[in-house]
Amino acid sequence: MSFESLGLDETLLSAVRTAGYENPTEVQARAIPAALQGRDLRVCSSTGSGKTASFVLPALMRVLEARKDPANKPKRGEIKGPRILVLVPTRELSMQVAKAASDYGRNVPWLTVTSVVGGVPYPAQLKALRSPLDILIATPGRLIDHIQSGKAVLDNVEMLVLDEADRMLDMGFIEDIEHIAEQLPAKRQTLMASATFDGEVGRLAQRLQKDDVERIE
Ligand code: AMP
Repeated sequence: MSFESLGLDETLLSAVRTAGYENPTEVQARAIPAALQGRDLRVCSSTGSGKTASFVLPALMRVLEARKDPANKPKRGEIKGPRILVLVPTRELSMQVAKAASDYGRNVPWLTVTSVVGGVPYPAQLKALRSPLDILIATPGRLIDHIQSGKAVLDNVEMLVLDEADRMLDMGFIEDIEHIAEQLPAKRQTLMASATFDGEVGRLAQRLQKDDVERIE
């Protein structure tokens, strides 16, 4: 299996080559084609499996595809919310995902990736949320704050990603995640990565995802 056979744009393939990857990992080889078909994913794997690229590359494809439609060209003064929302448990993970998005999106000069996480001052985040952005990476608690103050616009989200979903639930974010999901368009793709889908995480997946979900272990 080669990266070239997964259905990714040349813009992204050349970034993957720059990263020095020779072949997709097993998780990537299964997850990327399914995600590109628009399917929901349940990726049950831990760090080191290449799971980040499994959702970041399809997310970038969505952003690239949308831009190809002239109707989606940003108009002066018009602020649309992100197409992609990634929820993560911690600031550290938000930085890793943001770096992956910037690395794999290195040949997309207009790409905007923004993080809003807890424990950092609000002003810069408010400014970023008022600017055009393609991919928003957030911890649930801080994003709820921005939703409640009316600063986070989420009605443009086409893809929701929950990374390390089990850790987010361990940290008590279940209600925040449910509340955030309620703000999103029902017609969306939902990708979940978690070390387990037993118990509460499995029930959350059932509520947030379509029935026809691709399970990757
Ligand atoms: P992750 O499981 O997403 O945290 O990724 C673990 C590490 O594997 C990261 O440092 C990635 O840069 C690296 N990586 C991801 N995909 C590949 C690949 N196809 N070939 C080699 N390394 C990779």
